[in-house]
Amino acid sequence: MAPLNEVKEKLDRLTEQLKKYAYQYYVLDAPEISDPEYDQLLRELMELEKEHPAYQHEDSPTVRVGGEPLDYFRKVQHDVPMLSLSNAFDAAELRDFDRRVQDGLGYAPVYSCEVKIDGLAVNLKYEEGKFVLGATRGDGETGEDITSNLRTIPSIPLKLKEPVSIEVRGEAFMPKKSFERLNAAKAEREEAPFANPRNAAAGSLRQLDPKIAANRHLDIFIYSVGKLSDQQLTSHHDALSYAKELGFKVNPETRQFDSIEGVIEFCEGWLEKRQDLTYEIDGIVVKVDKLEDQVKLGFTAKNPRWATAYKFPAEEVVTRLRSIELNV
Ligand code: NAD
Repeated sequence: MAPLNEVKEKLDRLTEQLKKYAYQYYVLDAPEISDPEYDQLLRELMELEKEHPAYQHEDSPTVRVGGEPLDYFRKVQHDVPMLSLSNAFDAAELRDFDRRVQDGLGYAPVYSCEVKIDGLAVNLKYEEGKFVLGATRGDGETGEDITSNLRTIPSIPLKLKEPVSIEVRGEAFMPKKSFERLNAAKAEREEAPFANPRNAAAGSLRQLDPKIAANRHLDIFIYSVGKLSDQQLTSHHDALSYAKELGFKVNPETRQFDSIEGVIEFCEGWLEKRQDLTYEIDGIVVKVDKLEDQVKLGFTAKNPRWATAYKFPAEEVVTRLRSIELNV
């Protein structure tokens, strides 16, 4: 075992490194390393903190959601915090998640699976059917008011089909085609390209001039409904159908399963199929479907206990797995 001072030094170093990467990603929209590399370092830090909790920093990236909101936007306090998701990197970790859920509930739940769009989480607020406020997740408690930029996304309804007061959450994103066009134009002007569609979408929505966002051809999928005036919904699945009825764009790639094995098959099936989508996804979100079960399971400081994100392995790993399967 390494001496304690070395462990502490490593933990401090990793914390500082990850804080820097998180700032570049969440605040500057310009990451220096890839997401799988970041996730790997974050896991290392989590392990060290688990073994030596006394050394954990209060503002460790393992306990904080997202990044600080930018000062030049009006700040918005979220009524319900916008959290992150726990991760599962393989089938065994999905089974661990299922075990924890079943331990919490005392029975096997129905799971709802949907693609995890690689974009930017936003909260949209409607009063009597009218779009009044759109905010980023920010640090989970406080986000940025980006209403005028969000109003330029054609798939965000400015008026709902019913005059309800409601808040919904979704992922704003840049389709692959828009991203390619944007980077080609940047190359022509000899400007630095965006690293990926996620950062391009986030960068576009955090501009002061809404004309920039309007020209970037962004889109959105709504994935949750919160703060309803008086609608009786019993499951996540019902909530998504209701969101669709109101006029929101909801992703069609959603399935329900009554066992984790079905969930695993669905997740692994997307390893290759993801290439066919017109937008980027970085995994599959698995949610306990019944809202009553979600309430029973509750939240940790950073994540809901009733959901997890299955993360795809980095592209090189997918290719290697495929070669092993094909025996080449
Ligand atoms: P996350 O990406 O693991 O999951 C939470 C987010 O998933 C939600 O906020 C929401 O925006 C999104 N989402 C997409 N589809 C969804 C759906 N159908 N239902 C629910 N949520 C859905 O967590 P995070 O805290 O947003 O960020 C972590 C990610 O950021 C990791 O992938 C990490 O690699 C990356 N990151 C990268 C760097 C870097 O330097 N490359 C730095 C920091 C973070």
